[in-house]
Amino acid sequence: MSIQSEPSFRDSVDLMFNRAVALMDLPRGMEEKIRVCNATYTVRFGVRLRGHVHTFTGYRSVHSEHMEPVKGGIRYSPAVNQNEVEALAALMTYKCALVEAPFGGSKGGLCIDPRDYEEDELERITRRFAYELAKRDLIHPSQNVPAPDMGTGEREMAWIADQYARMNTTDINARACVTGKPIHAGGIQGRVEATGRGVQYALQEFFRHPEDIAAAGLSGSLDGKRIVVQGLGNVGYHAALFLSQEDGARITGIAERDGGLFDPEGLDVQAVHDWMQNHGTVRGCPVGELVEDPNLLLEEECDILIPAALEGVINLGNAGRVQAPLIIEAANGPITAGADEVLRKKGCVIIPDMYANAGGVTVSYFEWVKNLSHIRFGRMQRRQEEARHQLLMNELERLDRYMGDAWSMTPDFKQKYLRGADELELVRSGLDDTMRTAYQSMRAVWHGRADVHDLRTAAYLVAIERVARSYHAKGL
Ligand code: GLU
Repeated sequence: MSIQSEPSFRDSVDLMFNRAVALMDLPRGMEEKIRVCNATYTVRFGVRLRGHVHTFTGYRSVHSEHMEPVKGGIRYSPAVNQNEVEALAALMTYKCALVEAPFGGSKGGLCIDPRDYEEDELERITRRFAYELAKRDLIHPSQNVPAPDMGTGEREMAWIADQYARMNTTDINARACVTGKPIHAGGIQGRVEATGRGVQYALQEFFRHPEDIAAAGLSGSLDGKRIVVQGLGNVGYHAALFLSQEDGARITGIAERDGGLFDPEGLDVQAVHDWMQNHGTVRGCPVGELVEDPNLLLEEECDILIPAALEGVINLGNAGRVQAPLIIEAANGPITAGADEVLRKKGCVIIPDMYANAGGVTVSYFEWVKNLSHIRFGRMQRRQEEARHQLLMNELERLDRYMGDAWSMTPDFKQKYLRGADELELVRSGLDDTMRTAYQSMRAVWHGRADVHDLRTAAYLVAIERVARSYHAKGL
């Protein structure tokens, strides 16, 4: 049965879930228990700004508590609604199960355009939202641990952590109530770029399997591949930067909100990003050629398409014209269930969101463990790391000589640098391992079962099986 009209985001996720679950032999009733959202809390609160009271609407949805705490970001966007938050919470459940981060799934959102407010106003709004959620245990180190998502980042997470700490002055684990915090507020090295790094590691792993490369009709390695990225936010920017600087890929197209840039020889990602930071738009950027309608870039000929912004950007309206043979979903839900069907029939290989963007929550897990253990990462490994430590010292000394007076290197700074390097090294290798293992568990099902023809169904099968086993083990 084919999908004729566009379902909502929530229905789209459920349709994909249903397609996978139809191939499973779950105990009676288990299927529905896993699919449904356990609870969604809606809050409306007022904040006095610029002389009068503004009312804001926010949500925190808990999809599955088969493991606790539940985990998932908080999004700030005017498009936030209950349906979206529930779909995103469901994806968090499957994502965590797939990469074996021991969490249930949750997601939050505040219906707000952060660009409309000054920093101090955003702080007051965020603190009030955090207060509303924390007093209902919807922010809590052992029950519900938010993180950044679209429209939020380290700054908001630091406000949330501080708000929780003020409300729970005797909780020694207060810092673990939220992840994605700045380093100086209990964060971890490598978290900011983690989702983009995960996209890079996912593609590197894909290109280690000749059978999978051939399934997409491609050959060779990432070197020289033409990539179109949609959205140069945190995820798209880091993925495009690492793939172009470290893997030799060419970023031929960048699609942004109000226009796109194109260059068949490859765009300078850093230069485009710097331009956007200063001007808030790609328009006027002296890199590549301007494409008036950014949506056309999704249909451009390329080897790999990376939708890294909103859900539903590849839908029944444009799926037929998408030419990329390989799509990696850096965003959550960028391909609707209907478009997924159209693309699969065309032979397009899709690396699904629940795997592709799991780098964020994976490093969040490392941060949460770091906060709970109250031990800096890297300390235990120091002895085994002595040889590498010596190499770093040599590298620092060279750097010292090269930089001369411009480099204010003190022994203390050196120590900090070294500590940071240790932690970053651990985070990166942990993330790489996680992305490799999760890919291999998906592809084993993809190639191992005659009734599974795509990576998304394989990902759902692995994830649902793990959630079901966990419910079964603890009893419903
Ligand atoms: N918001 C991110 C996601 O969608 C990260 C979630 C987290 O770290 O908990 O996966």
